[in-house]
Amino acid sequence: MAETVDRFVRNFIGGEFIDPAESSCYDNFDPATGAALGRVHAADTELVDRAVVAAREAVSTWSQTPVAERVALLRRAADRIEERFDEFVAAEVGDTGKPVTQARALDVRRAPQNFRSFADIVAAAGQESFITDTVDGRRALNYVVRKPLGVVAVIVPWNLPLLLLTWKVAPALACGNAVVVKPSEETPSTAALLAEVLSEVGLPAGVFNVVHGRGDVGEFLTRHPGIAGVTFTGSTATGSRVMSAVSPRVRPVSFELGGKNAAIVFDDADLDDTLNGLTRSIFTNTGQVCLCTERVYVQRGVFDDIADGLTKRALELTLGHPTDKVTTTGPLISQAHREKVLRYFELAQNSGAEVLVGGGIPEMSGELNGGFWIEPTLWTGLANDDAVVREEIFGPVAALIPFDDEQEAVSLANDTDYGLAASVWTNDLRRGHRVAQAMNVGMSWVNTWYLRDLRSPFGGMNLSGIGREGGASSLHFYTDPTNVCVQL
Ligand code: NDP
Repeated sequence: MAETVDRFVRNFIGGEFIDPAESSCYDNFDPATGAALGRVHAADTELVDRAVVAAREAVSTWSQTPVAERVALLRRAADRIEERFDEFVAAEVGDTGKPVTQARALDVRRAPQNFRSFADIVAAAGQESFITDTVDGRRALNYVVRKPLGVVAVIVPWNLPLLLLTWKVAPALACGNAVVVKPSEETPSTAALLAEVLSEVGLPAGVFNVVHGRGDVGEFLTRHPGIAGVTFTGSTATGSRVMSAVSPRVRPVSFELGGKNAAIVFDDADLDDTLNGLTRSIFTNTGQVCLCTERVYVQRGVFDDIADGLTKRALELTLGHPTDKVTTTGPLISQAHREKVLRYFELAQNSGAEVLVGGGIPEMSGELNGGFWIEPTLWTGLANDDAVVREEIFGPVAALIPFDDEQEAVSLANDTDYGLAASVWTNDLRRGHRVAQAMNVGMSWVNTWYLRDLRSPFGGMNLSGIGREGGASSLHFYTDPTNVCVQL
């Protein structure tokens, strides 16, 4: 695979890749083997400033470009990503260690979908208008003109790098903004490929810029006075730092943050469908999806069936080389992240958990021995107030906890500081709706998980975020309304 990936990743500013000084480069690593994968050029304050200045210059023309031209360009970008699909897959698999089958079916496939969906949404968008009759007999027409924010900082994490990047870049560009993107230091490659694609399809220089590096680069960016808004996906702790950084200049933020998502399984649920759904929701992407389930509340009558069935399915997962088509489960992203997950394994043990499956580092053979592998893990015997059940772990793990009735299930699931997603598993239609609506989360599924319509709002409550993106919510975030009132 290494031959198909550009292993020297450079910053992209004002329509050009910038050649770095060697001293400012760092290695990124293949999580599957732990071996160095390539060199990445970290930006500094001067480069971040150049990127923001380039974006500010470009946005004055881009924001005035007719919507039809902007959306046509987004559609060409979607086509070009599909033409270069295999390169994107190779880059994503190399940086993240995720199974190639998943990168093809989910991560890279979503990138053209993001571009096309937001092209459609922006092309079809109308604007609000009202005929107003005042109490003193005057009549007026009120209408809203939506204007792009300007230069938007787009900061994204390592778990679904291209999917999350294009989810934000597509609506931002469609609405007439310029962007400065800061990918995760661990997963820079697909952002660089996207820069190539957007140039190839004719995006004007400076409308899309990428600055690489660690958290300090993101921090320079969010503190920069030329930034009009920040869209951020990442941990709650970093989100809080971003909020402080933008607060002196009172800029809008959109935060998609962490989760500690619950599944509720009632005793009338279809056992096989539920087990399949739970397996996906706990173990997809080695548990490194913000929507993944880490708490499973199971009605007592089916507790043993669910525990046994999930254990069996966890044992059937195939850990292996990401490029191998039979691999279902890759490594964690980094050694530091594996150490974090292992600390929760220890904590679970200290809290008296029974380990149904996993709980350690698997034995891998050959070059995979140096990778950041972890065993898919399930626990019982934990209480709702244990740290393992309250804090986001972001690994292939879940705690199974029994309940007796609907009221208890709802209160256990809602007893959390987060509020991102939930799933409810039942064959009782009315109960499904009732419980799904009672969840204090941004997304609530019934008898499924991670089934998305890009027109619907996406985001979380409480520690899981601020605001929503998707469909009209994205249009609202990436534009500022001016209300015009004309007396008739
Ligand atoms: P982080 O919060 O550590 O990092 C996210 C991004 O922010 C990275 O690009 C990071 O750079 C950058 N960053 C770090 N420090 C700063 C700073 N002070 N100012 C500005 N930017 C900064 O998250 P992870 O990358 O570890 O991703 C995992 C987290 O993302 C989990 O909590 C997960 O739940 C959440 N997430 C939420 C989703 C949602 O939709 N709600 C979806 C996907 C993930 P660098 O990598 O170089 O440190």
